[in-house]
Amino acid sequence: MTTPPATPSPDRAPRADPAWRVSRHASGLAPSVIAEALREAAEGGAISLAAGCPAEETLPVAETRALVERVLARPGALQYGDTNGLPGLRTWIAQDTARRTGRSVASGQVVITHGSQQALDLVCRALLDPGDTVIVDRPSYSGALHVLGLHQARVRAVPIATDPDPDLSALEGVLAEGPPARLVYVVPNFANPTGASLTAGRRRALARLADQYGCVVVEDDPYRDLAFGPAGGDTDEQGEQQEQPEQAPPLAALSDRVVTLGSFSKVLSPAARTGYLVAPEPLAPLLRTMKEAVDLGNSAFTQALVLALVTEPGLLERRLATLRSVYRDRQKIMVAALGSYLGEELEFQVPAGGFFVWGRLTGGGDTRALLPLALREGVAFVPGAAFYAHDPDVSTLRLSYAAADPTRLGPGCLRLARAVGRLRAG
Ligand code: PMP
Repeated sequence: MTTPPATPSPDRAPRADPAWRVSRHASGLAPSVIAEALREAAEGGAISLAAGCPAEETLPVAETRALVERVLARPGALQYGDTNGLPGLRTWIAQDTARRTGRSVASGQVVITHGSQQALDLVCRALLDPGDTVIVDRPSYSGALHVLGLHQARVRAVPIATDPDPDLSALEGVLAEGPPARLVYVVPNFANPTGASLTAGRRRALARLADQYGCVVVEDDPYRDLAFGPAGGDTDEQGEQQEQPEQAPPLAALSDRVVTLGSFSKVLSPAARTGYLVAPEPLAPLLRTMKEAVDLGNSAFTQALVLALVTEPGLLERRLATLRSVYRDRQKIMVAALGSYLGEELEFQVPAGGFFVWGRLTGGGDTRALLPLALREGVAFVPGAAFYAHDPDVSTLRLSYAAADPTRLGPGCLRLARAVGRLRAG
């Protein structure tokens, strides 16, 4: 059995003026559900539990101001630069990746991109033909589904992080059934949208399956440094303790068939639009050429700022400590408020890091119908359907505690509970 390409629902597909003949892949492209929810929330002045943005007050404004003169004094700061990225930053990333994976990594394997979003686009451009099969976790990051749709991939979603079988039999079944999958896309740590992390055992199983079936694993890992969870890590469905997520090895440590995507958006600033990919040696030249063809490279100035920020002694460590504490506190407030106001109505796991709580209405119902009621009450969230390539569980939703003012998290959850009450009242 195969599933259709990840095309968006027809009611959201843009209506192109027939006088302008747009390409086949563009005609199926719809705006992102999250962008729409955010716009509606902003227009109505709602408390946003929808935005997956970092906390505004943690952004490194003072640190950037302090470093900008030094960066401008560098020759080439406002010039065209190396199309694959600032050499110093690529070296820093190669060394950081080598430290995390315990493998040697050459700076030639690194391509700096406009966020990890562009890194995924480049991987798709390099490895996919229209109709090729890509396997994603179920549910999965909506931005990744958006890019895969643009590339006309045939997306099949199977539970990976939440497969009750640590040997990933659901994934193996799909791989064995065919057609051959070109890519398997996962967010191994504190995933968007579920907050779930892959146990070390599931990572080993995934690496083994990628090697056995000859597919490339895309390891999209923007939240890895935002671990703040309870000692012992998450508890999975069996109640079995998972390893501390930060101790589970990166997939790139376990297989040669992994492309790692990294991002400075969550630990420095999304406005830097600086992410990267680290590719296996045989793929690296193609991805480097792809980046050159697409945009001639990221801004030399921004990359030099990022390099200055990450190499300033103690700066990154201090930031990470602050971010973990801010997000731990916010998550605690949200979890307590959800418990108080929604009680048995909403089931959810408490993730050990990242930005998100993923919930399910225990009494059923479609959270797409809940959203307008919630906006009327003055709160926004993202309906879970946005994160399913097919067969959505429409009773799910994603709540973010990262960006909202902590004093508004409790009221936001109360408003959500009122909206659920309205949904139930019909
Ligand atoms: N991957 C995941 C899992 C994300 O949550 C995000 C941001 N929401 C991205 C990629 C995109 O990040 P960037 O800003 O680096 O493009």
